[in-house]
Amino acid sequence: MGKTSKDKRDIYYRRAKEEGWRARSAFKLLQIDNECHILDGVNKAVDLCAAPGSWSQVLSRRLNENYKKALETGNATPPKIVAVDLQAMAPLEGVIQIQGDITNINTAKQIISHFDNEQADLVVCDGAPDVTGLHDMDIYIQSQLLLAALNITTHILRQGGTFVAKIFRAKDVTLLYAQLKIFFPYVYCTKPSSSRNSSIEAFVVCKDYSPPEGYKPHMLNPLLTHKPCDFDELTGINRVIVPFVVCGDLSQPDSDTCYPLNFEGKEYTYHEPVQTPIAPPYQEALTLLENRDTDFRRSDVNVIVDNLSSMTI
Ligand code: SAM
Repeated sequence: MGKTSKDKRDIYYRRAKEEGWRARSAFKLLQIDNECHILDGVNKAVDLCAAPGSWSQVLSRRLNENYKKALETGNATPPKIVAVDLQAMAPLEGVIQIQGDITNINTAKQIISHFDNEQADLVVCDGAPDVTGLHDMDIYIQSQLLLAALNITTHILRQGGTFVAKIFRAKDVTLLYAQLKIFFPYVYCTKPSSSRNSSIEAFVVCKDYSPPEGYKPHMLNPLLTHKPCDFDELTGINRVIVPFVVCGDLSQPDSDTCYPLNFEGKEYTYHEPVQTPIAPPYQEALTLLENRDTDFRRSDVNVIVDNLSSMTI
């Protein structure tokens, strides 16, 4: 039997541990790449909102493969990956880590400083706020993360480069698409099959970075927020419908379905999480529980620990 209820429920969670990914999110990036080829030839990349680091793992693996291929033709520079998150992240070989808030100007400056005389081929952002439960608020914060990521991207992405970011498909999402269209001629909304249908998350894939002529990246005011407008008034080219792409064909498991533990024809073996949280928010609660001077039984604590530690992305 599976050790945690999440093992029994979620095939991508199980697969992530079997294949050595820190989070099931790795499959989202892999499936987007299968469909949109965002990692082909990439040598320098930035991973915004990166913890616990499964997208950085995917980037590290693919950029090193690209480097080896480039070495065969004799013209290659070692890959560069910069990963940023509010949370501390366990180290990953070859990945430069910054702990900070991407909506904060100092973090943005730190990221930009790593690209002093060079530019990135790809910027990815899987940023998600801690959900407040207030739907409109969560959607607003998510859109702010995306715009902060876009603002940083305008400083470091090379002409022709690619930007991929999580987006919530909510009421005013077309306004965000319109913003992205200013900088990228190709904007797709993708939904990897590893992303639950029940979730409003999707990922924008923006290709061929081409800022408007004369555009100068700046950190003075975040994009979009300085000039409110009523999107319904926009017409023609100013109002753009973004193509919707499903990534991962029907042979891929569906992330909303419960599969039996022997689903893939092999005997089930439990795997420990690849990287347990290094500073979990529940740590203090556990310490308090363990020090309680009551008849709270050890087995009760184990059940709670088991449930809490299975709560990953
Ligand atoms: N892509 C990651 C992976 O594969 O391991 C998972 C990212 S997780 C879904 C979302 C992350 O966004 C969290 O680690 C959270 O700390 C981060 N985040 C949320 N708001 C942020 C902000 N303002 N600045 C930096 N990181 C942020």
